Amino acid sequence: MSSSTDWHVDLLEIAQKCVYCGYCSLCPTFKELKWETNHPRGILEQIRMYFSEGVKEDKKVEVSKTLFEAIFACTMCKACENICLVDLPLLKVWEQVRQEAFKKGRWSPLLLSLYNKVKTTQNIYGLPAEERLAWAGLAGLNMSKRTKKKASIAYFVGCQASYSGKMGNVAPSVVKILRKTRVNFTILGLDEWCCGSPIFLAGGYSVGKTFAKHNHDKLKELGVKRIVTACSGCYRAFKIGYPRVLGDKWDIEVLHITELADELIKKGKLKLKHAIKEKITFKDPCELVRHCGLVEAPREVIKQIPNVRFEELPSNKHDALCCGGGGLLKLNDSDLVSQVNSHLISEIEYSEAEIVANGCPTCKDTILAGVKKNGLNVEVLDISELIVRAMEGEQ
Ligand code: SF4
Ligand code: SF4
Repeated sequence: MSSSTDWHVDLLEIAQKCVYCGYCSLCPTFKELKWETNHPRGILEQIRMYFSEGVKEDKKVEVSKTLFEAIFACTMCKACENICLVDLPLLKVWEQVRQEAFKKGRWSPLLLSLYNKVKTTQNIYGLPAEERLAWAGLAGLNMSKRTKKKASIAYFVGCQASYSGKMGNVAPSVVKILRKTRVNFTILGLDEWCCGSPIFLAGGYSVGKTFAKHNHDKLKELGVKRIVTACSGCYRAFKIGYPRVLGDKWDIEVLHITELADELIKKGKLKLKHAIKEKITFKDPCELVRHCGLVEAPREVIKQIPNVRFEELPSNKHDALCCGGGGLLKLNDSDLVSQVNSHLISEIEYSEAEIVANGCPTCKDTILAGVKKNGLNVEVLDISELIVRAMEGEQ
């Protein structure tokens, strides 16, 4: 059973269990920066120095400089935890150290600003709640009959698909899929709050609980039993964050759009009739694959596209490369994001894919930047956009 303090771990006890095997040398930021202080085992070593009893304050201040720098250079890709020889819960450790940095007033101004925006406006952009449905107006969709109506399935749009012009097609694509397949769904509309993902990534579980409780209560008022999202950050928040802070009270089934699409295809309700001639690859978002174990649904859906030419990236599924955009790194070191991203871009180029599909707005944004920077002739699509293309023909 989950408890309300499931996110809290004994940092010192975990750090002392590291056996220095070095399996976690695959860490994408360590591979770029090459400092032992950025290596997962090096971070644990600094935690030992920082949190041990009897450490003098000036020593703590000295260690904290590199420790807090390293903890915010982490993309939270979970590659280290997945490979750890002794199964250390490293992500919980990283999140908790981020909270220690917060308590010591050591967050970057940009991170602090994001945190305050989410807390005060309930979205990551600091924009008015009234603009949360602007995407529908821009796409010419009337969502008034869907908004806050009683239904067993809710589409949770998320901040990026709601507010970001770059993600302008994602929410309309999900709505097209749901309408075409006659799914009786609802959206929270202006009652939707940020899922809390950036707050959870910053280790702020007690603040994140307010967001989880709000969204949970609004969904329950509408009788929602299943929630679908096209955002890997929202998905992770619902799958991991909400059970941690709400315990057994959180009993809503969580689906990524690929899981729902796969289910609808198998029931004969969703038909992908239109061939896509371009070669397709799929970038597994870290939060879907390593954090939540979602592997097959996107592939099952892509396989249903007539005459599809699908090519896996060299590193795929649980071994997928991080795009560099996770863990709030964009707020702390955009150069490092580009460096980490460059390896993924090389793999995309190697695959000779003409379309790279993904299931995460942050991945999409980061891949788009990398593709542009490197002059690649590749179309970057959210998987919901790809599904609509195969459902309706070329858009
Ligand atoms: S989560 Fe990823 S970036 Fe962070 S320490 Fe682990 S491997 Fe490195
Ligand atoms: S894989 Fe685990 S045990 Fe090995 S060095 Fe990394 S953190 Fe330590």
